Amino acid sequence: MKVHEFQAKQVLARFGVPVPKSGVTDSVDEAVEIAKGLGGSVWVVKAQIHAGGRGKGGGVKLARSLDEVRQHAKAILGMTLVTHQTGPEGKLVNRILVEEGQNIDQELYFGIVIDRATSSPVIMASREGGMEIEEVAEENPDAILREVIDIATGMSAYQARRLAFGLGLQGKTVNKAVKLMMACYKAFEASDAAMLEINPLMISKEGDVVALDCKMEFDENAMFRHKDLAEMRDLTEEDAKEIEAAKFDLNYITLSGTVGCMVNGAGLAMATMDIIKHAGAEPANFLDVGGGATQERVEAAFKLILSDDSVKAVLINIFGGIVRCDMIARGVIEAAKNLDLQVPVVVRLEGTNAEEGLKLLEDSGLGLIPAKGLAAAATKVAEVAKGA
Ligand code: ADP
Ligand code: MG
Repeated sequence: MKVHEFQAKQVLARFGVPVPKSGVTDSVDEAVEIAKGLGGSVWVVKAQIHAGGRGKGGGVKLARSLDEVRQHAKAILGMTLVTHQTGPEGKLVNRILVEEGQNIDQELYFGIVIDRATSSPVIMASREGGMEIEEVAEENPDAILREVIDIATGMSAYQARRLAFGLGLQGKTVNKAVKLMMACYKAFEASDAAMLEINPLMISKEGDVVALDCKMEFDENAMFRHKDLAEMRDLTEEDAKEIEAAKFDLNYITLSGTVGCMVNGAGLAMATMDIIKHAGAEPANFLDVGGGATQERVEAAFKLILSDDSVKAVLINIFGGIVRCDMIARGVIEAAKNLDLQVPVVVRLEGTNAEEGLKLLEDSGLGLIPAKGLAAAATKVAEVAKGA
């Protein structure tokens, strides 16, 4: 679960991580009031969306007067911000953060992720802050310092010191950075985070160490024990189809191809996407209806797939182990009856009651295309998706 920058900063602040003073709003007038309240003479107006790269896209603006705060707030609120992380369609900006402007000396990078290879949190830090860490990793991998954390003992002060020295920090700044890193790890661990990224981590002209930007992602499976964090969820930032899918316990992810997939079991769903690609087409989604799919869930899943305009053909690939193929067929038929079916649907059923299921589909008069075997089904669906 992703949250906004202002929310991530609230979490960090609770653990004692220094962040700039700020206020969040959805109104231009209030933005000016917030700036007045913060005092000083430089402010930054920042679009709050679940994506990075806002600065380059025009979503982070420096203001040197209250008039400029007003201008920037007006321009950013309601804009559709396109960054390399939003996709070409961009994201609508509903809220802005008005923050006190900082006196930046250096922009560093600090991040914590879960590393599958070591099954541990790994801390990454780099002097190359302000730019995308993926770029640094590609062009200059040696510029990224790493510390693997033992989850039994947590982050040790010597690891933080090693990072601080590796970043070239000196004098009092070293201890400030150590304190910040230790606090960040505490925040990460205590909130069941999956990712924390501070980019840039600022060293100010005065030698202070401050989180200027922050991204956090939390483990959704742990949100039951973090009511306060769960409330930070912003559904307007999430894919509408994925929200709908969650209501029916469907594992659904939108992709960019043209072949809608309805499959039971995550492994089979992965294999189905692979074989669709192998047949020369692209999947429009990942969808696992689950082992214990009911007719109602199959109906919901089918509707979901068809609600996507880019879907030009559908492949239903079901292996009936626990689930019965005739029940799946009934779900598909019910859903197809209630919907105006515009795209060809290829069905491959295998396993428990497959024959019965196929017969139901053939008798339904809905023009569903039966296929024998996964390879044949994939070839067929790729062919009809191109024809449509
Ligand atoms: P994004 O990563 O989405 O582009 P950031 O919050 O990192 O957004 O902001 C982009 C850049 O804007 C930062 O690298 C920094 O140079 C500048 N910036 C952000 N917040 C402030 C601030 N409070 N004061 C001064 N400069 C800032
Ligand atoms: Mg940033």
